[in-house]
Amino acid sequence: SVPLSFFGGIGAASKQGILVKGSNFLEVLHRLDTVVFDKTGTLTVGHFSIDQITPAPEFTRDDLLTYAAIVEQHSTHPVAQSIVAAYHGDLQQYPVTNVAEKPGFGITATVNHQNVTVGNAKALKQVGIKLKNDQQVTTVFVAIDGQYAGSISVTDQPKPDSKQAISQLKQHGIKRTVMLTGDNHQIAAQIGKQLGIDEVQAELLPGDKVKVVDSLIQDAHQNKHCVGFVGDGINDSPVLARADVGIAMGGLGSDAAIEASDIVIMTDQPTKIVKAIDISKRTKTIVW
Ligand code: ADP
Ligand code: MG
Repeated sequence: SVPLSFFGGIGAASKQGILVKGSNFLEVLHRLDTVVFDKTGTLTVGHFSIDQITPAPEFTRDDLLTYAAIVEQHSTHPVAQSIVAAYHGDLQQYPVTNVAEKPGFGITATVNHQNVTVGNAKALKQVGIKLKNDQQVTTVFVAIDGQYAGSISVTDQPKPDSKQAISQLKQHGIKRTVMLTGDNHQIAAQIGKQLGIDEVQAELLPGDKVKVVDSLIQDAHQNKHCVGFVGDGINDSPVLARADVGIAMGGLGSDAAIEASDIVIMTDQPTKIVKAIDISKRTKTIVW
């Protein structure tokens, strides 16, 4: 049965903007040893600003941004939203068909009988364009009918308390902090270092993230420890569901994310994870 103090714990948590589903989290947070984070929108703000627009010689800046925005209006990815926001004009006027989003790559569509691909280096490789994947900032590439059309670089910032959250987790006995991302190795390493994260794994597809978390769970369970995963619910609901405790951040994330998680943090503050651990420990202390 659920101890009475559990309800006190729930009350304390909800005052902090931490919503919990069920009582399983009390047991799990107490034995938490590894905390895994998704990068974009979880440790970073998830709002990208446009840095540079670099068209190929045959295109103008305007053409490039227009093609990118026409296609990206059909994506909910934070990178896509930044490109659409940077476009000033009426996107409705362009007929778009065959829209196909590929998580971890980007999006393709037919615009005016042309096949347009908008995404990372891996996405362009799929239409036969080989690019280096060593960009220092997140870069969106555009291809039109298999021809390289240019790049748009975008930047995102860590959330103001992400660094503090990592250091507080360590003070709370979390042995292993891990960041997962579909972004490239250079960008991931840079943010990981800046935030003091122990391990970084980059260029992962959503399915790869599940595999990484599965192996971290195996490691932790050998010592009766648990693994938490913190994500924003964009492309990471399967991982949220898999972790011993799934924590969705940002409050009004997708329904799928709320469904898949054990804890929902309504604010944009990763330090709330530490608050949740504190509350679970206090609740346990009252029980025993
Ligand atoms: P993260 O792990 O950082 O949350 P995702 O798995 O959602 O990232 O995406 C990985 C990478 O794929 C992004 O960094 C971006 O380069 C690319 N990407 C995904 N969707 C899009 C899109 N709609 N437009 C452009 N690039 C995209
Ligand atoms: Mg993501």
